[in-house]
Amino acid sequence: MKLNNSKIWLSSPHMGGTEQKYIQEAFDANWVAPLGPNVNGLEKDLENYMGNQAHVGALSSGTAAIHLGLILLGVQAGDEVICQTMTFSASANPILYLNATPIFVDSEEQTWNLCPIALELAIKDRIQKGKNPKAIIAVHLYGMPYQIEVIRAIADKYEIPILEDSAEALGSSYKGQKCGTFGDIGVLSFNGNKIITTSGGGAIVTKTAAQKEKAIFYATQARDAAPHYQHSEIGYNYRMSNICAGIGRGQMEVLDHHVALRRAMHDFYVDLFKDLPGVTVFSAPSTDYFSNYWLSAILIDPIITKGITRETLRLALEAENIESRSLWKPMHLQPVFEKYPYYGSKVAETLFENGLCLPSGSNLTDEDRERIAAVIGSVFVV
Ligand SMILES: *Cc1c(COP(=O)(O)O)cnc(C)c1O
Repeated sequence: MKLNNSKIWLSSPHMGGTEQKYIQEAFDANWVAPLGPNVNGLEKDLENYMGNQAHVGALSSGTAAIHLGLILLGVQAGDEVICQTMTFSASANPILYLNATPIFVDSEEQTWNLCPIALELAIKDRIQKGKNPKAIIAVHLYGMPYQIEVIRAIADKYEIPILEDSAEALGSSYKGQKCGTFGDIGVLSFNGNKIITTSGGGAIVTKTAAQKEKAIFYATQARDAAPHYQHSEIGYNYRMSNICAGIGRGQMEVLDHHVALRRAMHDFYVDLFKDLPGVTVFSAPSTDYFSNYWLSAILIDPIITKGITRETLRLALEAENIESRSLWKPMHLQPVFEKYPYYGSKVAETLFENGLCLPSGSNLTDEDRERIAAVIGSVFVV
C-alpha cells in the first residue's frame, strides 16, 4: 500500500464540531468583545470541570495567567522566584516581566518535574543568602503531575506559595483531584498546540472569588470603580475575547474524549517500543498519577541502542514529513537565563539530551500511526 506523505504534526488543533455554533451566537448578539456570554460560559464550564471549588478567570494566554498569578502572589521587583528549569520559557518569562529574579531548580527522574531535594536545597540556600523566595513555579510537564504531596509539604514548611503551571495538564489529575487546583494559584493554556484550544488563550485558577475578581481587574486595565476612567494601579489587556471563548466552549464538550485519545497514543507507543531495549516511554510512576499525555515522549539510551540517538530518530521522522521534537531545553542552559542561579545536577540536562516528543495529537489516524511505526521500525531494525 502506498501511504500518503502529508505532514504529521506533534500536536495540532482538533475541533469537536460545535465551536462554530458558539461563535455564531456571539456574532448574532454582536458580542464580538473581550467579555460576553461565552467568556462567562467557558469559566463556568471550567469551574465545573476542575471541581474543588475552583474559581476560573479566562485570559488571553497562559503566559498572561502566569504574569497575573505572580502579581497576585505579591511578587515585586527584586524578589526571587523559584522555577522548574525543565519547562517551556513561558513559565519563567513573567518573572522577568516583574523585574524579579528566577532561581532554577532541577527535575527528578520519575515525573520529570521539580526535584524535592534540589528544591529544598535551593530554598535553604536562598534564605541563608538573605532572601526568602516569594513563590515556587511548579510545572506538570507534558501533562504528568509533579510530586504533589512532597512539593506541597516543602512549600508549606517554608511558607512559600505555589504557582501551579498546569498549561500542559488540563484533564490530568492526582489521586482523583484535577491538576490546576493544587497550587495557591493555577494556570491553564488553550494555545493552538495544547489539549484543547481557543486558538490562543489561557486561564487563571484561584481559591477565592475575590482573587479571581482581582485577576480580572488587572486583566482589564485596572479600572477603578468610577464613572470616568480612573486608575490607581498598573493594568494589562489580558482578557479573553468572547469569540475565542466560543471555541473554548465547543472544545470543553470534547475535552475528556481528547484526553482518552491522547492516552491511546501513549499506549500505542508503549506497545511499539515494548521490545526495544534502550527506549523508555515516559509513563506515570503509579496509579495515583493520571496524565493527559498531552505529549508522548521517549528516552533513548544511545549506549544500549548502539549509537541510535534521539537525533537519529528525529531526522528519520522528518524525512518522512513527521514532526517530532526534543524535550524542552532547560532554562538554566538558555542564553537568556544562564546568568541566574541554578540548583541541581544533570537530570534535566540528561533528559534534554536523550528525550524526544513524538506525534501525540488526538486527531491522528490509523494511517498516521502506520507511517510512524514504519519509520521507527526502520530506524530500530529488530
Ligand atoms: C504553553 C505553555 C505555557 C504558556 O501558555 P500560552 O497560552 O502559550 O501563553 C506556559 N507554560 C507551559 C509549561 C506551557 O507549555
